Amino acid sequence: MGIIKTKGIVIGTANSSDNDKVLTILTPDLGKISAFYKGAKKGNKSALNSSEYLSFSNLLIYKSPNDNYSINSAELIELFYNLRIDVEKLSYATTISKIIYDVTEENIPAYDVLQLFLNTLYVISESEKNLDLIYCIFRIRLLAILGFLPQVSKCVKCGLQMKEDMEEFYFSIKEDGVLCNTCSRLDKSVIRLSKTTFSALIYVLSCDSKKIFSFDIPQGAIDELKLFTKIYTTSKLDKEYEIMKI
Ligand SMILES: [Zn+2]
Repeated sequence: MGIIKTKGIVIGTANSSDNDKVLTILTPDLGKISAFYKGAKKGNKSALNSSEYLSFSNLLIYKSPNDNYSINSAELIELFYNLRIDVEKLSYATTISKIIYDVTEENIPAYDVLQLFLNTLYVISESEKNLDLIYCIFRIRLLAILGFLPQVSKCVKCGLQMKEDMEEFYFSIKEDGVLCNTCSRLDKSVIRLSKTTFSALIYVLSCDSKKIFSFDIPQGAIDELKLFTKIYTTSKLDKEYEIMKI
């Protein structure tokens, strides 16, 4: 109860009246919350910006005795302006936001998910990096944060160690990890990955959170990673996330 000081990014908005909004906000400590923002549509510029979809702000939030949240004040940190003037970038950001919406809950802290989300929006907004590659990296890392960590160092079936000089790798969706050449022949859910794509996968799963976007791979490897990530994400989240048309 009382006043809570936190930060949050708006992942959903609804008009409550001519002047007010109800925002869905992802915060690090409270998880995903719904908060009433009185005067959001008639306040000063900061209030207007802070109530925009995908804006990130410092927040003072009041929690009522019956656990309803309302925003006392908001101070904009980042608007991700470039997302708003580029339809393609916005469509990727919107799809990512939808996934974030689906995997977060109230009262479940979301420090790592929020950090990944902000990093991803920043790279989309401020760089010209391949959007499909960004979208792959985001989903692989998000699933890892949510606890889905595939086995990539040795064969899931027989334990044979993978070697760096191998030219291709076989990933089993069913077994959730790599298979050696022999075991891969018995698994119909296998996806073949080139050395480059497999190295990218290992990098995204294991590197420092600030460096996940610090690499590039050729278009052929991006296409492979796209196919892998699509099947892998659908198998873990039981839902397909195609890039939304805006
Ligand atoms: Zn094996």
